[in-house]
Amino acid sequence: MSEVMPKGVNWLKDYATGFKPSQNMITTAQNGDIAYDFLVVSPGLVMDTSLIEGLTEALGHGNVCSNYTNPEHTWDVIRNFKGGHAVFTQPTTPIKCGGAPQKIAYLAADYFRMHNMSDRTKVTFATPGSVIFGVKPIADSLMKVVQRYNIDLNHFTLLSK
Ligand SMILES: Cc1cc2nc3c(=O)[nH]c(=O)nc-3n(C[C@H](O)[C@H](O)[C@H](O)COP(=O)(O)OP(=O)(O)OC[C@H]3O[C@@H](n4cnc5c(N)ncnc54)[C@H](O)[C@@H]3O)c2cc1C
Repeated sequence: MSEVMPKGVNWLKDYATGFKPSQNMITTAQNGDIAYDFLVVSPGLVMDTSLIEGLTEALGHGNVCSNYTNPEHTWDVIRNFKGGHAVFTQPTTPIKCGGAPQKIAYLAADYFRMHNMSDRTKVTFATPGSVIFGVKPIADSLMKVVQRYNIDLNHFTLLSK
């Protein structure tokens, strides 16, 4: 971030804890109240693994991995995979980058193919949605990728314990 911080900007590495819009103020964890003329809020999305029972405990251990939390662990899991059933999925909630869960499924399928593991590996992509992608021309291209890698595509699917 420091590399892209514009000159003249005072970067406070702090946590916004609340808003006081009637006073044009925000409250922060370490710097007290800070006044503003204009406020732009861009907090992004926060992962909440507690929405799926057991996920918080399981994530990051053994073969349960997520590119949203630790892509290096995902890479370790893929590299150490000896064949079997590789299941990729995404939640029903909004997520950072709607394509990310698919991207890693395709990359993994490609890795398994390159390492001659396709005959002993089933790759499933399970999505809560009715289509692989909401934009038809993109969905058409992605369906070709799904077929090319022989991926088992499941719709209306929800991860649960
Ligand atoms: C695995 C993965 C792959 C992706 N691939 C792509 C891609 O190929 N192409 C693409 O366009 N996008 C991709 N994305 C999505 C892209 O990274 C996000 O859309 C983008 O980062 C969103 O930017 P943002 O600034 O809105 O949120 P964030 O990047 O989430 O930034 C929000 C910031 O606000 C901070 N924050 C939150 N609450 C507070 C608070 N109370 N006080 C202070 N700070 C706070 C957070 O700590 C965070 O630093 C990908 C995302 C992931 C996870």
